[in-house]
Amino acid sequence: MQVICCVCQKTKNHNGWAKQAARSGVQLSHGYCPRCYKQMMGRVENFFVMNGCRKNA
Ligand SMILES: [Zn+2]
Repeated sequence: MQVICCVCQKTKNHNGWAKQAARSGVQLSHGYCPRCYKQMMGRVENFFVMNGCRKNA
């Protein structure tokens, strides 16, 4: 099974993350590469800062 980033479509191999075509016949698992994961987490944090805390204050 190979992991593919659902944001930038990079796939994970033994060297790290690279934009490459997945080998045919390989099962793909969608996830996030470290970079997109970080971006996503930053976005989630901003969302809570902007919308979450103020409402309950
Ligand atoms: Zn990515």
